[in-house]
Amino acid sequence: MTLPSTHRLGELSWTQVKELAERDPIILLPIGAVEQHGPHLPIHEDSIVAEWVADKLAKENGCYVAPALHYGHSGVFRGFNGNLSLSQATLRAVTYEIIEALVQSGFRRVIIVNNNGGNVGPVIDAGLQARHDLGVLVGHLYPWQLGYALMRDVYDDPAKAYGHGAEPEHSAMLAMFPDQVQSELAVAGGLASSSGWSPTSYTEAAIPGHDVRGTVLWDFSEVSATGCTGDVSLGSAKTGEIWIERVIGFCSAYIQEYDRNTSVDA
Ligand SMILES: [Zn+2]
Repeated sequence: MTLPSTHRLGELSWTQVKELAERDPIILLPIGAVEQHGPHLPIHEDSIVAEWVADKLAKENGCYVAPALHYGHSGVFRGFNGNLSLSQATLRAVTYEIIEALVQSGFRRVIIVNNNGGNVGPVIDAGLQARHDLGVLVGHLYPWQLGYALMRDVYDDPAKAYGHGAEPEHSAMLAMFPDQVQSELAVAGGLASSSGWSPTSYTEAAIPGHDVRGTVLWDFSEVSATGCTGDVSLGSAKTGEIWIERVIGFCSAYIQEYDRNTSVDA
């Protein structure tokens, strides 16, 4: 059977999915989140970027993209409107059950394209359970986190440029979804002292006399009025193109390595 020229699993009929599974492709499963990223970025940002990255990777590497899971776990942003968050237990269960269903449909090679920090624990736990219970080896790619690692030389001071709603995600969004970015609404956010604490990130505070930070489990809305950290003024589509090139480059190399090590004759 000739399959239609699409890299989207959801566009195939069940008979075509059956045929595809016999070819042992790699399935990319995008998982996002619906949460605030400051006044200038859309709440479904993590989801649309996960899907965009997965689509590009599938086209370039001959993989297929499963329909995306647009909801994730955003426990630290509950104080902001639009925080449509699943619990960790729900996300872990849904992720595991999607992997299990893919295996029942005949697939055995799955890479999760997860684009939210709050998802990491539940999604990795689901993948490890799948390894134990189903025998499949699940891969995990986290584009936003990879961008932090791969873009450091682009900024004078990555520590100041990087942040939630700031770099490099602001630039990446300007390159991928310029119509959904309202840069004119971006406001320098920063972190505000809360009840005597000196916050340094989402759930961390400075401890006097020490370089090591302490963990404090407040809601992020208690220490940030805008929801942003980092420098929101540095966003540019040009920088976003560098993000795309480097993140896609790394993810493609990862997929090739996964392919080499999971093919039937590996
Ligand atoms: Zn996010």
